[in-house]
Amino acid sequence: MTQPLDLSDFERAVFFTGAGISAESGVPTYRGRAGIWAEYDPEKVASQAAFERDPETVLAFHEQRRALVAACAPNAAHRHIAAWQADHSGVSVITQNTDGLHETAGSSDVVELHGSLWRTRCARHGVLKDRSDGPYQRRDCPECGARLRPDITWFGDMVDTTAFEEAGRRVEAADLFVAVGTSGVVWPAAGFIELAARSGARMIEINPEPSEASVAFSTQLRQPAAEALPTLFPLPAD
Ligand code: NAD
Repeated sequence: MTQPLDLSDFERAVFFTGAGISAESGVPTYRGRAGIWAEYDPEKVASQAAFERDPETVLAFHEQRRALVAACAPNAAHRHIAAWQADHSGVSVITQNTDGLHETAGSSDVVELHGSLWRTRCARHGVLKDRSDGPYQRRDCPECGARLRPDITWFGDMVDTTAFEEAGRRVEAADLFVAVGTSGVVWPAAGFIELAARSGARMIEINPEPSEASVAFSTQLRQPAAEALPTLFPLPAD
């Protein structure tokens, strides 16, 4: 185990999180034996073409995901990052997750690269919040009546350029970059790992398994996130 670090020694820290940070909350990851894509074909439930062909099946899949996530609580890793964010203005959270657990844990400033299960959107009239824990409340746009789709980046979608540009600015300015629970195989998000290393940040990976991106990290903690984070970055009051 690496010696504990004082997060306030760093001016700008980025926590770059993936599905693994929510694994201990009970949210399944996408890849691996217990992953969602072992059970579902992404082409059939998570693409614009599938939504146009069969919106009910696509919405039913996302409603199932919402119900699953609504039954999960943030874990010590989400809570620890939120506590540090409250304590230190230089802490950013950039997440690939769509589960909203960082916000539920109290993080107020989260860059969501791939959207959120808790929002829907109309191609013409933008994004609507839909934070009910049950099925999507609104199926149609109140402005034009078009069918609303989950505000999530699906296979084949363009990325959210606003979120990616904001994330890029934060990563370039970071002197500490901590990747938590990401396999580093989903692009272009995985490119932030290389950008942080190029920009000279101290690089730390927290993942029980080696990942595609491990080589970029000078410190690799092979532990679950909820165990590693509070030990590595104790809070001032701890
Ligand atoms: P991934 O499923 O590809 O990889 C998850 C990684 O987490 C793996 O490397 C695994 O070894 C690691 N991991 C598992 N348990 C862990 C733990 N307790 N602590 C730390 N690490 C742990 O996930 P990804 O890299 O985020 O990429 C997949 C894409 O799927 C992302 O774009 C994300 O949007 C999406 N996704 C989101 C959620 C969510 O919102 N919770 C869940 C599944 C997938």
